[in-house]
Amino acid sequence: MVWFQCEDCGDNLKKPKLASHFRSCSANKLSCIDCGQMFGQQTVQGHTQCMTEMVYYIEFWKSVSYICFKDIHCG
Ligand SMILES: [Zn+2]
Ligand SMILES: [Zn+2]
Repeated sequence: MVWFQCEDCGDNLKKPKLASHFRSCSANKLSCIDCGQMFGQQTVQGHTQCMTEMVYYIEFWKSVSYICFKDIHCG
């Protein structure tokens, strides 16, 4: 789950909470807690997967394919 910090009030918000937060706060700027990228109210919706999460998945698949590679060679 991607978390954002509202730069106007300092609140930490999960993505589903953003829409209701926009009604109670000006929230001109929001930063992603994981990767530190800055977003506006429109662009924040496009940040569905964080860079750091993607790196994690890439590393995960690398390690999986490494195990398969080893198995083929050992078998
Ligand atoms: Zn706010
Ligand atoms: Zn992010």
